[in-house]
Amino acid sequence: METIIFATKNKGKIKEINAILADMPVQVVSMEEAGITIDVVEDGTTFEANAMKKATQIMQISQKITLADDSGLEIDYLDKAPGVYSARFLGEDTPYSEKCKAILEKLKDVPEDKRTARFVSCIAAAFPDGRQLISYDTIEGIIGWESKGTNGFGYDPIFYLPERKKYMAELLPEEKNAISHRGKALRKMKDLLQKEL
Ligand code: IMP
Repeated sequence: METIIFATKNKGKIKEINAILADMPVQVVSMEEAGITIDVVEDGTTFEANAMKKATQIMQISQKITLADDSGLEIDYLDKAPGVYSARFLGEDTPYSEKCKAILEKLKDVPEDKRTARFVSCIAAAFPDGRQLISYDTIEGIIGWESKGTNGFGYDPIFYLPERKKYMAELLPEEKNAISHRGKALRKMKDLLQKEL
């Protein structure tokens, strides 16, 4: 059984990827479980650059296949902001209730057809022998008119899915994983890994 490191401190993400890779002979462990504590500076201008930088740096320390992800929210009316700066928008420590409120305010008088937005997820894999893999996917929606729902995290309460007539934060975790940017990018990464392992 091959051990793969996922360069994240988020236990939820480890659980999600282990569930997706359940039928592969691999076990995914967190940085903490692998005894790695460094912080990688996410100073890239693209999701791909940030994900690959994280995966490569942790692989160089661990000498094991390492996965890393970077994700964020692109709002078309704001020229795709906050994008790669989603976590840092208005300051890293500002509660998401305030970040969401600020976005609703910025889009106050914007008509529905100009409220388009998407969550983006990029997953990178770095192998000790130099091989690199990258997967990317999105979920399209619009910025809603209020904060609604208590599930999920981050910008989920203002991300409205017109086809489901629901905010992302109103979905159950399994409903979100089935359609989310990260769920889709993780399943694409599984296909890529299966060809390499
Ligand atoms: P990271 O990729 O874990 O660094 O996430 C970047 C930021 O993007 C998060 O802190 C959230 O602000 C936002 N984000 C990424 N994925 C989601 C999601 O599924 N729901 C809500 N916000 C998200």
